[in-house]
Amino acid sequence: MDARDLIGVARKTDLGEWLKGLRDNPERMGAAPLTDQGAWIEHRAASGLHRCLRCGALAQLAFIADTKAGPRWLDLCPEHASMIYNMATDWR
Ligand SMILES: [Zn+2]
Repeated sequence: MDARDLIGVARKTDLGEWLKGLRDNPERMGAAPLTDQGAWIEHRAASGLHRCLRCGALAQLAFIADTKAGPRWLDLCPEHASMIYNMATDWR
């Protein structure tokens, strides 16, 4: 494992902690709709009005997270969306 791999691991761990923090504090995310979620996700991602929750860059992807407070928006830039996707893949 070279230094780049180590940075990747550190980032992933950090991202996991961040996701856990979000899950524990869903009020940090906007409330998402309960119905027609697929259509709303497309609309939100295409609107260009939201910022990545992680880094503040323009969000180009939106997910709906199921939280204890109900569905919440998870807006992400492509970089963070792919990092989270890769984490989810690793967990399988
Ligand atoms: Zn980001």
